[in-house]
Amino acid sequence: MQKLCSHCGQTFEITDDDLQFYDSVSPVFSNKKYAIPPPTLCFDCRQQRRMAWRNEKRLYHRKCDLTGKQILSIYSPDKPYTVYEHHEWYTDKWNPIDYGREYDFGKTFFEQFDALHHVCPLRSFNLQEQSENSDYTNLANRNKNCYLIFAATDNEDCYYSTYVQRNKNAVDCFFTFESELCYECIDCYNCYHLTHGQYCQNCSNSSLLFDCRGCSDCFASAALVNKQYHILNKPYAKEEYEKIVSGIQGNRTMMDQAQNDFTALKLTVPHKYYAGLSNENVIGDHISYSKNTHHSFDCTYLEDCEYCTWFHQSQNCRDCYAWGFDCSLGYENHLCGNRFQNVCFSESCWNDISNLFYCRYCLDGCKDCFGCVSLLHKQYCILNKQFEGRLRTSHPENHREHSQTQGVGRILPCENFSIRIQRDGGARVFSSFQGTDSGGRIQVARRRAIGKTVSGSADGSSRSH
Ligand SMILES: [Zn+2]
Repeated sequence: MQKLCSHCGQTFEITDDDLQFYDSVSPVFSNKKYAIPPPTLCFDCRQQRRMAWRNEKRLYHRKCDLTGKQILSIYSPDKPYTVYEHHEWYTDKWNPIDYGREYDFGKTFFEQFDALHHVCPLRSFNLQEQSENSDYTNLANRNKNCYLIFAATDNEDCYYSTYVQRNKNAVDCFFTFESELCYECIDCYNCYHLTHGQYCQNCSNSSLLFDCRGCSDCFASAALVNKQYHILNKPYAKEEYEKIVSGIQGNRTMMDQAQNDFTALKLTVPHKYYAGLSNENVIGDHISYSKNTHHSFDCTYLEDCEYCTWFHQSQNCRDCYAWGFDCSLGYENHLCGNRFQNVCFSESCWNDISNLFYCRYCLDGCKDCFGCVSLLHKQYCILNKQFEGRLRTSHPENHREHSQTQGVGRILPCENFSIRIQRDGGARVFSSFQGTDSGGRIQVARRRAIGKTVSGSADGSSRSH
């Protein structure tokens, strides 16, 4: 089915496969499925909304609102949020359930989520877990002795790099994996002692390489496979190679000339139509080791995924920007990862989580939560209010009546998105996922509920479209 994007007016397609996926992530309450409608925004507009949550590299000094200490944070001091230093945020000095509230049927869901989001403490960083001596990092996990690296996992002694994983001693690198002693490398895998490399795999002791595989001791060369002692794609004896290269590297003028020659050489070799390795049935760019994955970028080890970016080792996910790892059934998320199942419209949720909708900073085993902020190990919560039993729907007739009033399948603004809650012993929830476009958007859309077409960024700033 062809649709017009409600934001930019471009045509985009929704396939039968897409519809099947939306069905598979639609929530079920009391054995009744509440269908998530297809999106009304095209891929690019959906991506923009997800990225509005992403403050990757801007770090600020501000006070921790719990201790009063000066801290680093992705939130500048003027932002109207409560921000705790991320280690303090993890302590039991405060309780996010204290910020829980009854659902108010006189207000929209997004309005109520926004109010909770403004007062419930947020983490100072999006992600800086299990890291050692790596304070100036963000969106970063398990790093040691690293400085100013972003979107980075399992690195050691790395600096000034972005989108890097499992590297050691890498500096000024971008989208580089499992490499060591690398400088100024882009899109490189399993390289050692490589400088100024691009699209290289298993290369070592080399400099100025483009699209090379399995090469060692090569200089200013392009599109070589399993070669050694080459300069500008020409072979040399070992001694001659070493003499020429050391002469060039010790002379600024000769180095500049070599770089010019290398640039000219790159233009003469065939360029692969996309950047990636070992894929099967894949459409995208900068994607590797993936299968049956389309319209995805900067991804690795995906299967049956669509519209994902910087997303890894996961299956059956769509519209996810960062970061994955053993995840499935994710839809319209930013920065959700480390084993999730069925998580939609959420931001910064991770570690063994499932059945989360419209949540932020809900971590470490959170399950079955809706519209919650900053929870750990919680289940059956709505707007941070803890319910004792399972979340259940009320009578199906109520839903039918409500649906007829609102018009299922009609494109509605977010104001019409509603979740209705009744308390009867345990928790009884009437959830109405109607034909609203909000069902297909990340929670930033909440700002539309107050009457403006405005997107917010993760550091709290906002701008008009
Ligand atoms: Zn659009």
